[in-house]
Amino acid sequence: SLSERLSGVFDRLRGRGALTEDDVRQAMREVRIALLEADVALPVVRDFVSKITEKAIGHNVLKSVTPGQQVVKIVYDALVEMLGSDTSDLNLAVNPPAVILMVGLQGSGKTTTSAKLGKKLKEKDHKKVLMASLDVHRPAAQEQLATLGQQADVPTLPIIAGQQPVEIAQRALTSARLQGYDVVILDTAGRLHIDQLLMDEMKAVADSSQPAETLLVVDALAGQDAVNIARSFSEQVDLTGVILTRMDGDARGGAALSMRAVTGKPIKFVGTSEKLDGLSPFHPDRVANRILGMGDIISLVEKASETIEKEDAEALAAKMAKGRFDFNDLKKQFSQMRRMGGMGALASMLPGVKQIKNAMANGQVDDRILVKMEAMIDSMTPKERIRPELINAKRKIRIAKGSGTTVQEINRLLKMHQEMSSAMKRLKKLGGIKGLMKMLGGGA
Ligand code: GDP
Ligand code: MG
Repeated sequence: SLSERLSGVFDRLRGRGALTEDDVRQAMREVRIALLEADVALPVVRDFVSKITEKAIGHNVLKSVTPGQQVVKIVYDALVEMLGSDTSDLNLAVNPPAVILMVGLQGSGKTTTSAKLGKKLKEKDHKKVLMASLDVHRPAAQEQLATLGQQADVPTLPIIAGQQPVEIAQRALTSARLQGYDVVILDTAGRLHIDQLLMDEMKAVADSSQPAETLLVVDALAGQDAVNIARSFSEQVDLTGVILTRMDGDARGGAALSMRAVTGKPIKFVGTSEKLDGLSPFHPDRVANRILGMGDIISLVEKASETIEKEDAEALAAKMAKGRFDFNDLKKQFSQMRRMGGMGALASMLPGVKQIKNAMANGQVDDRILVKMEAMIDSMTPKERIRPELINAKRKIRIAKGSGTTVQEINRLLKMHQEMSSAMKRLKKLGGIKGLMKMLGGGA
């Protein structure tokens, strides 16, 4: 993966006393391959790599005492810069009702994201929001939005059969004006492929409703396609921003990087689950961290501190900062994760939980695995929990028996712990949470 490849490169760089120009070029070759593997568009990769190479070579890295760290910082800074330097919220400062037009391919997550946005605007920004589906092509598409609207407690425009998208949009605007709505979210139809009919329909709606925000919804897993999608949509309408959905999946920073480079528009939100609260602001710094293979530790700590007692979160952060992370911590993590909405929501934020995530995607495991893993840890001796290397083949069999699991499952747990602690160690090398925060330009 991109993360592994990059962190491998940086580990090697970090171990060196001094870097030669060749070292830098060598590292950049790997960065380039990794970005390509992650489906970042070729021109974007070229641009990025040449920018960094120049900086890394020209920037006294060669003479620096800690060249590895400097290169990491240069790559990190360039990533953040390219991803956009800060969070950017919606811009709805127009005469109400402010229209938000959702565009994108079928299945990208427009309807779900419309409802997520409606819910957020209502609950967090205290806006009066009306939603309307303009999808007259897919059967039951309008009903889908109505159902989601009910779940989000956000009203939707009553459905009238036979109306065309522009008519529906006008009816939504009229209703909104009459009833004093602040925001109207227009959810458009998508096609499986980019076609001119889709584009014309979308342009007609955009012309007649003058949106304050036109948001392109793109599946973060769309890979190389994301670039073509971005290009064709931005050629046809004035996009104001991008929303990347399914960042909870096999989250690759790569998609974010090319979307941003191709559209030149900020990524405003990311979708982090199928549920209606699965929408987060886009944090370039966090995505850069993900790309560098440190997991989304800041998000994790933040989320943890929202949900669990503050001391617990601080203790966890301190452990992370020290690069120490034993089975007692892992067990605590599991019970916290269960309280915080289960694996799905959190797996992607924790470094090194990839196997479990993949298994979940294949439908092999669910939140019950947390209970199981806690049972495995319970069957270890206190010493083993602190020093997992004590667990030999014989002990594995005992632990499996004691917890009603298999040796294979014990091995999986051990591997996961190992990956997590090496991620923590990588974090430590960068100066822990505090160092990371400093690098991010904030306080901690
Ligand atoms: P549309 O055709 O663009 O309107 O796409 P939908 O909103 O109908 O979404 C298609 C599928 O993607 C649905 O099953 C959604 O639940 C799912 N989906 C949308 N956003 C996300 C997300 O951020 N994460 C995950 N895991 N699933 C999502
Ligand atoms: Mg839809």
